[in-house]
Amino acid sequence: MNNDNNTIYGFDVNLICEFFLNTKRQGPGSPDVTLKALSFIDNLSDTAQIADIGCGTGGQTMVLAQNVSGTITGLDFFSGCIDKFNLDALKLNLQNRVKGIVGSMDNLPFEKESLDLIWSEGAIYNIGFERGINEWRDYLKPDRYIAVSESSWFTEERPAEIHDFWMQEYQEIDTIPVKVAQMQRAGYLPVASFVLPEKCWTEHYYQPLIEARKLMLEKYPQNETVKKLIEFQHLEEALYNKYKGFYGYVFYIGKKI
Ligand code: SAM
Repeated sequence: MNNDNNTIYGFDVNLICEFFLNTKRQGPGSPDVTLKALSFIDNLSDTAQIADIGCGTGGQTMVLAQNVSGTITGLDFFSGCIDKFNLDALKLNLQNRVKGIVGSMDNLPFEKESLDLIWSEGAIYNIGFERGINEWRDYLKPDRYIAVSESSWFTEERPAEIHDFWMQEYQEIDTIPVKVAQMQRAGYLPVASFVLPEKCWTEHYYQPLIEARKLMLEKYPQNETVKKLIEFQHLEEALYNKYKGFYGYVFYIGKKI
């Protein structure tokens, strides 16, 4: 996703934001996977400082918050997402240690070496995996963790149709060993990496999009942008169904060394 002139993939960001406000998550993932990634991280006390970068409406942040005792700051550049995030934190009575703020992942508002954990599900691609893990490392205390999910190739080679699609959308997609090596080079011990199960795409991401699309079409029946966004989602899903043996999301967990 490239963000320029208030567009993402050429679509008006406000409409996209409104669309995703009707969903719990804005990318593939699940509560089980969030907890699995969390299981690799030790020594999170109630004084731990955690940041969830590109948190969206915070589905995964609330799961994290219910399973750690530290303080979590969710950061996203869509204010609509952050409003929903803070409302949900309040509903879950987590408002004293879970707060959403508007900000950009390329200019984090944290002190250097202040964080115990940097979390980011399906969002680091916005500045690129390698840039993100390198720049964000400065904000971690020594020996503390980063956990990010990122689209990755499962094979060395793949059909041209899916290769070309991803080269249009995100040229940094690469194989798991390449991503792990990037993590090592950036100054992390690669603690774990695991592939997200298929249901993170189908049950937890694509299925809820059906209802969100219905709501948008009811509200904006003639809107060309909404129609194009929906067409793009259908294409993405069709490609996933056809080529899911070749790519998927992978969680990468690293410890700053
Ligand atoms: N982490 C959430 C999840 O898994 O449901 C949201 C993932 S969504 C695919 C990517 C998120 O990154 C969006 O909420 C978007 O607003 C946010 N984002 C994009 N560029 C950003 C930037 N430069 N700084 C902060 N957030 C950004």
